[in-house]
Parts: sequence; C-alpha cells; structure tokens
Amino acid sequence: FVDIRHAQKSFGSLEVLKDISLTVERGQIVGIIGSSGSGKSTLLRAINDLDPLTGGEVWLDGVQVNKTLPHRQYEKHINAMRQQVGMVFQHFNLFPHMTARQNVTMAPMMLKGLSQEAADKLAEEQLDKVGMLERIDYYPSQLSGGQKQRVAIARALAMEPKLMLFDEATSALDPELVEEVNMVMKKLAEEHMTMIIVTHEMDFAASVCDRVLFMDKGVVVEEGPPEVLFRNPSKDRTREFLRKHL
Ligand code: ATP
Ligand code: MG
Repeated sequence: FVDIRHAQKSFGSLEVLKDISLTVERGQIVGIIGSSGSGKSTLLRAINDLDPLTGGEVWLDGVQVNKTLPHRQYEKHINAMRQQVGMVFQHFNLFPHMTARQNVTMAPMMLKGLSQEAADKLAEEQLDKVGMLERIDYYPSQLSGGQKQRVAIARALAMEPKLMLFDEATSALDPELVEEVNMVMKKLAEEHMTMIIVTHEMDFAASVCDRVLFMDKGVVVEEGPPEVLFRNPSKDRTREFLRKHL
C-alpha cells in the first residue's frame, strides 16, 4: 500500500537516507524510532514529496508519488496525492486566526468543494471523534497543547486520508496531555487506519504498532514486531539505543 523503494536523500554532501526500503500494508501501523538526526522526519516528509528524495521511489496505493513531470502536471499530481495523506507534526500547525471549526472545514471546502453546511457537519463529526466538539468555536490560543493536537488530527481526518503520518505528535506536550492524544491515535488504530508513527515513546509504540523500525544514521538497522524489537533485538546498535530510552 505504501512502498518506499531504495530511498536515498542527500543535503549537499550529507547523506541523510541511505537506501531505505519499506512497505506498509493497508491497515498496518508502523512505528519509527531512532536518535535525533537519524532521518526519521526526512523519511516521513519524503512520503508526501515535501522533501523530495534524491534517489528511489515512493508509491502510494499503486501510484508513484515522486514522479518527474512537467511543472503544471506535477502540481496537479502532487496535490491529489497529498490529499490522500494526513500529517500531524510535533508543533501544532493550526491556523491561529481560525477557530477549531474553521481549521477543519477549510481544506474540505477549498479542495473538495464542500458547501459550508456539509463542511460544518463534517467538522462536528471529526471534532466529536477527538473529543473536541465542546470547543469547536475556540481559537488555537484558547486551547491546551493536547487539545490543539487533537484538532490537528481532526483536521487531517476531515480530508478522509488513506494514510496518516505522525511525526512526534506528542513530544512537545506536557506529560499529562500526552495520553489524550495517544488515545485518539489508538482509536484510529482500532479503526484500521494505515499509519506511520515517528515516536520517542517506546511504550506507546509497543502498544499500537504492528511493526517497529529502528533507524540510525540514515539506515533501518532493524525492524520487527514490537515484542521482538523491544524485548529481544538482534543488533547491538538497537540494544544500545533501547538501553538509553526504555
Ligand atoms: P529528530 O529526532 O531530532 O526529529 P530526525 O530523525 O527526524 O531527528 P531529520 O530531521 O530527518 O532527523 O534529519 C536528519 C538529518 O538531516 C540531520 O542531520 C539534519 O541536520 C539533516 N537535515 C534535515 N533537513 C535538512 C535541510 N533542509 N538541510 C540540510 N540538512 C538537513
Ligand atoms: Mg524529526
């Protein structure tokens, strides 16, 4: 469903991704762990072609994402691809001058041509799902970090993505707010949303992911089901990382 083939990425002479291949089946939840600078965010951003690869291919549901096309055709192609992928980042990127409702309704109205009425209904549904219906008309500045992050998830879900990418969605949050966001991600997991989750939270990764990848210096050192990767890793580098982070 997601197929990354021999991904390679360099920034000048710095090679950040070194021949990474990864497939994610529909409905699978894949976790990515690894030290700072190992290339996790770069890999995630490559899936949307936000950070285009310097080598290799990304496929989503049978279509190559990082195709070479004439400019206008590429724009059309990439917009269509990006609509299928929801992204949630560490720093809540809600539009500050818009309420929760407006944040959620904007893309479906602009990109899918939904009427105000239909978009409002959708926003109510999605915000209800993340437990934020009561705050639908609040501005981001009136919300806690965990609440903002739940609105960001609702906003991504409103586009009905085929795939959700989470890049350390909880790492900027106070500890007591982490759980409410994790609960929303767990709920999506139960609904079989296909997800790739970059996280520093090993317990969370162990509890939701079907597979976990450990990245170091631009390579996938080891991958496996969480019960194997966390309890019985086969590589020294993995063991060393886990010793510091478990
Ligand atoms: P963290 O856990 O700190 O978020 P990460 O695993 O997500 O780290 P990346 O953000 O993917 O790491 O960065 C991987 C490497 O690529 C780092 O060495 C970083 O400095 C470098 N890098 C990322 N973006 C750029 C850029 N736009 N220009 C140059 N170097 C970059
Ligand atoms: Mg990162």
